[in-house]
Amino acid sequence: MKKLLLMTALGATFMACNNNKQAQETLAESVSPSPENFQYTVDKFADIEILRYRVPDFETLSLKQKELVYYLNQAALEGRDIFYDQNNKYNLAIRRTLEGIYENYAGDKSTEDWKNFETYLKQVWMANGIHHHYSEDKIIPKFSAEYFTTLANSVDPARLPVQDGAAVAEFLKKILPVMFDPKVMPKRLNQASGQDLVKTSAVNFYDGVTQEEVEDFYNKMKNPDDNTPLSYGLNSKVVLKNGTIIEEVYKVGGLYSTAISRIVGWLEKAAAVAENAQQKKVIETLIAFYRTGDLKTFDDYSIEWVKDTDSQVDFINGFIETYTDPLGMKAAWEAMTNFKNVEASKRTHIISDNAQWFEDNSPVDSRFKKEEVKGVSAKVITAAILGGDSYPSTPIGINLPNSNWIRRDYGSKSVTIENITEAYNRASLGNGFAEEFMWSAEEVERAKEYSEKTDNLHTDLHECLGHASGKLLPGVDGDALKAYASTVEEARADLFALYYLADAKMVELGLLPDDKAYKAEYYKYMMNGAMTQLTRIQPGKNIEEAHMRNRALIANWALEKGKADNVVEFKQRDGKTYIVVNDYVKLRDLFGQLLAEIQRIKSTGDFAGAEKLVETYGVKVNPALHKEVLARYEALHLSPYRGFVNPVYTLVKNDKGEVTDVKISYDENFVSQNLRYSRQYSVLPIWN
Ligand code: ZN
Repeated sequence: MKKLLLMTALGATFMACNNNKQAQETLAESVSPSPENFQYTVDKFADIEILRYRVPDFETLSLKQKELVYYLNQAALEGRDIFYDQNNKYNLAIRRTLEGIYENYAGDKSTEDWKNFETYLKQVWMANGIHHHYSEDKIIPKFSAEYFTTLANSVDPARLPVQDGAAVAEFLKKILPVMFDPKVMPKRLNQASGQDLVKTSAVNFYDGVTQEEVEDFYNKMKNPDDNTPLSYGLNSKVVLKNGTIIEEVYKVGGLYSTAISRIVGWLEKAAAVAENAQQKKVIETLIAFYRTGDLKTFDDYSIEWVKDTDSQVDFINGFIETYTDPLGMKAAWEAMTNFKNVEASKRTHIISDNAQWFEDNSPVDSRFKKEEVKGVSAKVITAAILGGDSYPSTPIGINLPNSNWIRRDYGSKSVTIENITEAYNRASLGNGFAEEFMWSAEEVERAKEYSEKTDNLHTDLHECLGHASGKLLPGVDGDALKAYASTVEEARADLFALYYLADAKMVELGLLPDDKAYKAEYYKYMMNGAMTQLTRIQPGKNIEEAHMRNRALIANWALEKGKADNVVEFKQRDGKTYIVVNDYVKLRDLFGQLLAEIQRIKSTGDFAGAEKLVETYGVKVNPALHKEVLARYEALHLSPYRGFVNPVYTLVKNDKGEVTDVKISYDENFVSQNLRYSRQYSVLPIWN
């Protein structure tokens, strides 16, 4: 539940900058390429732009640390197919068919049909499956089932994921409706209230069971008096077998065994070059979890991981976030290797050193505050590789672990991923977005001056303080808010950040240069939440994704509650709609009031309160405004979503076979990277 995605796909940075030099100039040098010499944009298709990110200072790591990063990176790539299969049970079959055709088709590749086929394959790579990574809707190909059948039949059946060559027709019969019929599995995650969310979601966490059956199944395991509950259901699929409901557990010897075994193999190599004893223990406990699937071991691992604050290299690898489960229990496989940016982390250390002050002074009811904020450790990191749920679309901040009681008793680790934010901002230079959507030159200038600072600080505060703040009242079930839990949790973290960005404490601590800087973030937040994030929504659709719902909720609530005092409003000029903030001080008050209410809902497990807030302010879209925003956005020719390609790491060995260095290069494009990943890291059967 704890990751921050970029607020807008477009950052809002504006300096003129030309980036015409070729990426090739920067390849495999011993010094990191500078931002000015780096080619950030790699590819554009459909509604997606693919970027590259730099890994500055990788060369300053010790040889042992580089080797550690290398093995953790390998472990991060081995789970790719797990995430595909979790997203939908047809994903691996369809992806491998598309790739088989793409690499072997010998016919005419100059046609519109072929271009649409290529775009669809890229969309599947971007989404880790056939449903859009953000909107959850099935991606409908812009070519026909007949064309696809012709392509499939023209390729040697041995190149397709069909065991028996004669069975191609049979195989196609299975996957064609899933690809082409809009009525079959239309949504990966359905959150429409009143429907059976398990039956109507295409995600592959359940088979043959109803929502009620799943809820009963897990309610029987839960003990309301348990103060340290396991994360029930986190690492399994629930299926009906011979009339009985059972869990198929992800582990060595269980579901996804071949991929998990390979992850374990790389983790063993990583453990051997760990930086210190604590880190070694972390890796070994994770290995034990993958071997047993035991959720108690997962909690042990999470606790050891929180305690490891000395290592420079760190990683995420496992079943982590529950956004794509309609019931918020089952976790998607995710990985990221990173290392600490020591200089930039001084900023986050100031924040975590003052964590108790922030908790004590928040506008939240004292019953819901933590008496003692424990172990909030925050750092700025450099991502070295993205995998699973974090690739190609990736967060800019993360706060883990997710278990409420581990956070309560042991604290959490919070990170701001600055090299990813850098790529977003650099790729947005001078794209015209701010000039189009901001009310006046004043807002544009303010954003230019402050927003790189305030963006990063918002992420720090959201992750380090926001998610770590507050507590549940005794006896309140952590799953009480069900489908609204993620939205409420994200709103809580955002509001905490927004409230404190405007506090005099920020300037006092030297985190912001003056008392005007926060206005840049306030304006951008309101503009995005109420308006410009609609560029990511198809006409006629509601808002689905938790972070988007949270931003709409906050912005629309503030617009309505601020009406009487004219705090913030929509204004028209030349037939265009803009957000105008008239009173920033009162806007801060409103954020504080909503923070108090959201925390009350979370702390008391008030499902009805959550439902009312989210459904009233966070889901619905004003169709006229939506249409206008889409048209204005279209005219700018920008992509509303962004993904990344990873750098390539190579072990350098001497003639005795000893590792002497790890080289990093940035020369792979989106297509070659995904095809390579499918060759090197694809060991699961198509049906799991
Ligand atoms: Zn978050």
